[in-house]
Amino acid sequence: MFRTINTHTALAFIILFGLFISVSSGYALYEMEEKKIIREFHTEINSHVASLHKEIIINFEALRSLAILFSDSKTPDWLHFSFEAKNILNRHNDIQALEWIPLVLNSQRAAFESTPLINLPEFEIIERQKQGRMVKSPIKDVYFPVYFIEPYIGNELAYGFDLSSNSTRYQAIVAARDSGLATATGSITLVQEKGNQKGFLAFIPIYKFRGLSTEEKRRKNLLGLVLGVFRIGDIFNNSLKGKIIDDIQISLLDESEPLNTTILHQNSFYEKEVGNEIIYRKKLPLIWGRQWTLVASPSQTFFNKKRNVLPLAVFISFILFTIYIALYIHFISKRTAIAQKNVEDKNQEINKVNKQLELLSRSDGLTGIANRRCMDDFFEREWRLAIRNKTLLSFVIIDIDFFKLYNDNYGHPEGDDCLKKVAKNLESTLKRPTDFIARYGGEEFSIILPNTTNVAEIAENCRHSVESLNILHEYSSVAQVITISIGICTVAPTKIMRSRTLIETADKALYLAKNKGRNRVEELHINSEI
Ligand code: GH3
Ligand code: MG
Ligand code: MG
Repeated sequence: MFRTINTHTALAFIILFGLFISVSSGYALYEMEEKKIIREFHTEINSHVASLHKEIIINFEALRSLAILFSDSKTPDWLHFSFEAKNILNRHNDIQALEWIPLVLNSQRAAFESTPLINLPEFEIIERQKQGRMVKSPIKDVYFPVYFIEPYIGNELAYGFDLSSNSTRYQAIVAARDSGLATATGSITLVQEKGNQKGFLAFIPIYKFRGLSTEEKRRKNLLGLVLGVFRIGDIFNNSLKGKIIDDIQISLLDESEPLNTTILHQNSFYEKEVGNEIIYRKKLPLIWGRQWTLVASPSQTFFNKKRNVLPLAVFISFILFTIYIALYIHFISKRTAIAQKNVEDKNQEINKVNKQLELLSRSDGLTGIANRRCMDDFFEREWRLAIRNKTLLSFVIIDIDFFKLYNDNYGHPEGDDCLKKVAKNLESTLKRPTDFIARYGGEEFSIILPNTTNVAEIAENCRHSVESLNILHEYSSVAQVITISIGICTVAPTKIMRSRTLIETADKALYLAKNKGRNRVEELHINSEI
């Protein structure tokens, strides 16, 4: 039972421990992998940001090369501009248009509008009404109209458009004019936009003179602005070099104005649910006055694509290992239990045989009652007990009368039979559990009676009982049947007495009984004998 509980406890412990190890190691690997994937995600986004930045820089630098045409007070004519712009556009396909925006005073307006440019339709300074219709621009002091435009096809709507009529555009013009630096607008919807992309404009201011040191001088001497028109989506997609991002949600924000963050672009995956809250923000370096930030969230698909089976494999292996160990222990303990049971059975068997052997060694083979050896042990024990308890101990010795004659006349087997009957009979006359009978030797029996006062009476009962068996013994000179003579002695043993004296005295009493004619009980006391 104890062993079973122990085995069960050990099994439960192993299973729990195994489960714990399986789950924790699987989970730890899963976490490590997740962290690794997030690192990879960051690296990927960083590389997108780097290529987006590069793409923007390249395009802006292209614009700068166009601005070189406008050096000092010399402005190129339309054909020259168109030729150079075409070259640039051939190399940079994400520039929507390149333009020259002259500063036109109201006094110059008529001259501008009456001088058409080769291959371009009639020039007219226009602006967009709230309803979206283009109309002739009302009279103002200064205009910033789109004058040179390459390509014209696809950008027709922008031709003649006064950029100062729109606040976002005008803000950028003013910033460029006053700072003398290349400047980009925030996100705008281009006049010529037909889809739903956002765009932005990048300006390089051109002055009559170089190296103007103050804002005032710059304002006075502005000739106009070289303009590049960009569609953000095109730049974004070109920066990916044909790669399709379909498992990361990306949006590009313009955070140049702290209180007015605008969304410049969102990738096509944006509509879908990403299913997690991992958000990575990466700022682009400041470009032409604009602060752009890429915000990205990986989707579950992104994670799933990058995950491998290792955490699951480790988890399953540990579980299988645990099951294996548990089963192994289970079978081993079962086998041990069986072996132990076998040993216990064997021991029981041996004990049983030993007891039988002990019984055999202590009992008389013929009559089945205790033998002499057994009697000696019993007598010694009772002797010590009587000393300790200060009680009486009686020894009774019984001898069958003329038994030699019985044997001689009825045969030895009959004699054996008679011995058995007498033993059985004597045994049955004893009433108390502590009374003890043994075969003392040959045809002699002894009875040990602890703490008994009526020994003579018991002995007389024995004698009478055997006589009453009526075993025919025609050759006995004392009776016609088997009779016994009995010698008894009772003593209260003390330490100074020898136990043998009690037996010897009883033996003498028997001798006396024989002498006195047999078939009788004689008692002797020990005192006089010591
Ligand atoms: P007494 O009245 O003086 O005792 O005479 P007795 O013949 O009984 O005396 P004795 O001691 O000379 O004889 C004992 C006889 O008991 C001798 C032997 O033949 C017989 N005897 C002893 N053991 C056994 C036994 O195991 N079986 C049988 N059948 N006879 C036995
Ligand atoms: Mg005898
Ligand atoms: Mg005899």
